[in-house]
Parts: sequence; structure tokens; C-alpha cells
Amino acid sequence: MKFDNIIIGGGLSGLTSGIKLAEQGRKCAIVSSGQSAIHFFSGSFDLLGKINGQEVVNPLEEMKKLSLKHPYQRIGMENIAPLVNEVPQFLKRAGLSFSGQASKNHFVLTPMGVMKPTWLTIQDFTCFDTKDEFPWKKAVILNFSGFLDFHTLFIKDGLKKFEVNAQIKNIAMKEFEAIRRNPSEMRSSNIAKVFDQGEAINEFANKVNELSEGFEVVILPAVFGLMNNKVAADLKEKINKPLVLLPALPPSVPGIRSQIMLRQRFQELGGTYFLGDNVEEGVFENNRLIEIKTNNHGDIKLEADEFILASGSFYSKGIVAIHDKLYEPIFGLDIDGDNDRAQWLDEKFFNDQPYMHYGVKTDEHFRAMMNGKPIENLYVSGSVLGGANPLKEGSGAGISLLTSLHVAEQILK
Ligand SMILES: Cc1cc2nc3c(=O)[nH]c(=O)nc-3n(C[C@H](O)[C@H](O)[C@H](O)COP(=O)(O)OP(=O)(O)OC[C@H]3O[C@@H](n4cnc5c(N)ncnc54)[C@H](O)[C@@H]3O)c2cc1C
Repeated sequence: MKFDNIIIGGGLSGLTSGIKLAEQGRKCAIVSSGQSAIHFFSGSFDLLGKINGQEVVNPLEEMKKLSLKHPYQRIGMENIAPLVNEVPQFLKRAGLSFSGQASKNHFVLTPMGVMKPTWLTIQDFTCFDTKDEFPWKKAVILNFSGFLDFHTLFIKDGLKKFEVNAQIKNIAMKEFEAIRRNPSEMRSSNIAKVFDQGEAINEFANKVNELSEGFEVVILPAVFGLMNNKVAADLKEKINKPLVLLPALPPSVPGIRSQIMLRQRFQELGGTYFLGDNVEEGVFENNRLIEIKTNNHGDIKLEADEFILASGSFYSKGIVAIHDKLYEPIFGLDIDGDNDRAQWLDEKFFNDQPYMHYGVKTDEHFRAMMNGKPIENLYVSGSVLGGANPLKEGSGAGISLLTSLHVAEQILK
């Protein structure tokens, strides 16, 4: 099977470059072995939240201070602003609405009850201008009876810092009885499916309105709209108080919805998505990747003019660490990291951990290096790239979105 472009990995990064290339008429395929980090999505895409522990106000300006090895610096400051501006419209074309701007971080309330700076927040969630204030003083935190993935006490405790008087209450409804019988079934995605069917929402909203009498704001877990992005908006209309949705433990309902909608956009543009297929190796000729071999396709060759590796970081096995080495498991590409395991970790758990900066080595065009030479038609994007600590910096989605758009532009040139 021959494509213009094949992308390895169907997470945020792979889908972003796939959509961008398909929008420009390229015949693309994405091969993805499984779930991606977006299934754990908090509801916000981070661009740059902190540098050296200091909170960032204007990510677009302050990213100039990052190390020259950082993916943003390697895209080039002159190229970043147009890409950053492109993202909200790009997501909108896939049916995903986000609020926020790159020149000023806003804040979101986390499930630990603290405010966190971020770039783009999905429409269901509430954005705050400052981290020091919560606009309401009397809050009701509502949970579904038997739902263990929403830690209401943490939220209540966190809200005390803002001098909020919060009360926790539970909602029971017959629609949830079936999934409640087994605690492993009482997961956010199963609750969301009940609301997606449309019938439970009116009764639920009535109960919320009853239980929130005397309170200024309602806090609920974000379990609305798995396949249908109108459920949360509909609920907000039916509730007679401001509603703040907070992420529950994974699977993330807004994350799964985002993944589904991005994938639909890619397929509507003519893209082919091979789900549950693992890329195992590649055939190289004269510093070019000619074809890849996958688990499901056996002897059927998957060929393309250009390939993108978007296989994620350690979490998705895009890079792997074993007792004595780090490696990239599909092609054996060069790794920017330390093979001496003593260097991987800082003994202080909360310090910037060196291993978080490791990733596949690339040249200045984001082409993968193998044995010290760039592979001419194999580009690398997303969290499989090194040079950053997304967890410490709050830069995960920004790196994935911007490197993927940039790599797609390199291919389209
Ligand atoms: C648990 C978690 C939660 C996060 N939450 C947030 C958040 O809320 N906000 C934020 O800004 N950032 C977050 N991040 C940071 C995250 O890195 C980025 O947001 C981004 O989603 C990463 O996308 P990616 O496509 O680069 O990698 P991934 O999402 O890891 O996707 C890689 C994909 O490649 C596939 N793959 C790997 N190897 C192969 C192979 N051999 N063959 C075929 N397919 C393969 C995997 O199955 C996976 O689908 C989170 C990270 C993690 C780990």
C-alpha cells in the first residue's frame, strides 16, 4: 500500500500532522498501536506554565528564555507565533472549541483544588484570570453515589485556601444503578454513555438544582459528552447556577471525545487510520525509509514518500529504558540521552528529572538521526522528541501540537 505520508502514532501529535497534511490534499495513513496520552487529558493544552519553577505569564514571550535544545527553540522563535495562532482554528475545524491565548496564561482549577496556569482550555471547563481568587464563596461539590474516581475531599480542602465554604453531596439515580453494581464499571466513560443517550440529563439537572439551593456554584466531575460535544453545554443551560467541571481520574471523557473528533476529522479528509496495529520495523535504502512493517499487515508493505515518527515518550513506549540502555524500539534511532543509568534520575523526587528530557535525536529539520546521519524522509514530532520536561514546565500539548504542525510544514515545502 502506497501513501504520500505515513505517521506512526495516533496521539495528539500524529493526528495533528495527519490532519494538517490531509488538509493540503496529501494521501495519509496513521498507524497506531493503542491508547495515547490524550485519554488522560486534563481538559487543557499547556504551552508553557513554568520556567525554573517560576510561573510564566506570557508563554510566547518567555519561551525565548528556554534552552536552545528545547523543541520550541528548535522550531525557531520566528516560526512559533504563526503556528500558535493557527492552533485554535485548526482545532475548531475538527469541532473542538477551546479558550485561551498564547500571550497570557489563564488558570484552571485542578482536582487537587489548586489553580494551574495553562494555554487552551476546552469549552466545557471554566477559565480563571487569577490564581489567587475563586469567584464564589459557597460551593456544592456533587458526586455520583459510588463513583470513586472523583476525590471530593481534596477539592474541598483546596478550596479552603480561597476561603470557600464547600459542601459535598451525592446524587443517586436509577439510570446509574446497573453500572453501580460493579465498582469497576462505575467509570467516567460509562457515566458519560448514559448521558450521551440523552434521557438522564433532565432528571439529573433537576436534582442538581435541588441540591445546590443556597449555594453560589456547582462543582461536578467532567463526565459529560463522550461522543456528543453538546451534552456539557446542554447541562449548563439547565442548571440555574454557574457550573465548574473538574477532571476525574482517567479515562478522561473530554480527552476521549477530543481523540474521537480529531480522528473523525482526519478520516473525513480522506486519511486512513490503522488502529491497534504496531509498527515493528522499517526498510532503509540510501538514508531513506522505504517501507514499514506492521504487526497486522504482515507481508503487505506500507510505503510512503515521507514518514513521521509520533510514537510518544516512555509512557507510550516511543522510547524505552532497560537496565543498561535507552533505545528507540522501532528503528533503533539515535537517542539524545545518557546510557549511564546513574544519570537518569535525580535523587530528589520533585527535582527536574534528567530522563524526562530524553528523546529521539534529530537534525535542525526534525529529521531522525540514525548512526549519526539524518534519515532524509523520516521526521519526528511530539513527546518522542527530547529537550524538554513537559511535566515540570507545563508544555506537553504545546510541544506536540507545534512540532507536529512544523514538521507537516517541512514536508509540504
Ligand atoms: C498520562 C499523561 C497525561 C497528560 N496530560 C496532559 C494534559 O492534560 N495537558 C497537556 O498539555 N499535556 C499532557 N500530557 C503531555 C502529553 O505528552 C501531550 O499532551 C501529548 O498528548 C502527547 O502526544 P503524543 O502524540 O506526542 O504522544 P502519545 O499521546 O503518547 O501518543 C503516541 C501514540 O503512538 C503509538 N505508538 C507507540 N509506538 C507505536 C508503534 N510501534 N506502532 C504504532 N503506534 C505506536 C501509541 O500507541 C500512542 O497512541 C500528558 C502526558 C501523559 C503521559
